Amino acid sequence: MAIIIDGKQIAQSVKEQLKDKVKDFLYKYNHQITLAVILVGENPASKVYVKNKITATEYVGMKSLSFHLPESSTQEEVENLVESLSNDNGVDGILVQLPLPKHLDENKILSKIPADKDVDGFLAQNVGNLLLGQPATVACTPFGVIKMLKSQNIELSGKNAVVIGRSNIVGKPMALLLLQENCTVTVCHSKTQNLKDVCKNADILIAAIGKPEFVKADMVKEGAVVIDVGINRTEKGLVGDVDFEQVKDVASYISPVPGGVGPMTIAMLLENTYLCALRRFNA
Ligand code: NAD
Repeated sequence: MAIIIDGKQIAQSVKEQLKDKVKDFLYKYNHQITLAVILVGENPASKVYVKNKITATEYVGMKSLSFHLPESSTQEEVENLVESLSNDNGVDGILVQLPLPKHLDENKILSKIPADKDVDGFLAQNVGNLLLGQPATVACTPFGVIKMLKSQNIELSGKNAVVIGRSNIVGKPMALLLLQENCTVTVCHSKTQNLKDVCKNADILIAAIGKPEFVKADMVKEGAVVIDVGINRTEKGLVGDVDFEQVKDVASYISPVPGGVGPMTIAMLLENTYLCALRRFNA
């Protein structure tokens, strides 16, 4: 039976450490680190995510500014808000909750966020810096996965890592971070052939597909470390991209859903906000 990586507990310890760091920052710079969150429309899942982010921001002692715009907001209205927060010296991080309503141009809105306030790490400048191995804000979810692996002292250097999924927010930055840790990285996607054989070769297997319980025991090497990024709402409740019940008996470590990567993503958003503040204050 694999060791279960408790993302909730690791996230809690990241937040407890941040509480102290945020307090020190306030004392040193007379500035309360501030995260602005913009939600447009009434997407129920987005509303829950935003609420959780605000609660966590306040928990670590940061200031939370939240803007809930109506579904009918125009491109110009959203862009103007982002621009005004970009120019506001009191704001350290800006997060636009995705997805935006269909009539809005997401890329154009995100591009109004300056790179030093891009707490999601989605902007080209941050992604480019990550690729070049230069200081960058790293997308929260893959950043959280690396933190989870390190919290267990799992050796990464020289290991075969397979990432299933190539999205801009999870798969691609995940692959870059694993490469930085000296893994030999393979990225799989919907057109990958012989997926099972490729996965079976992984010492570290990261599933970020968006298909409930897609990864079965026969795709996993005995003793592999398996991290499940997936969040799928099904009739049985929230499940990951990994068939936990099957895979836990083959893997050496496994992250559960819920209680795995999910809580880490929020903790790393706060960490990113702190790091953005440090950079803005040249601290
Ligand atoms: P996405 O839909 O943008 O990307 C999915 C990827 O999976 C694509 O690159 C696609 O090529 C690949 N894929 C699809 N079918 C495949 C198949 N049959 N074989 C191999 N690859 C296949 O999704 P995303 O935004 O990267 O999210 C992936 C999952 O992670 C989703 O369940 C999402 O809800 C979850 N997620 C969780 C968190 C978190 O905080 N835990 C954060 C972001 C995303």
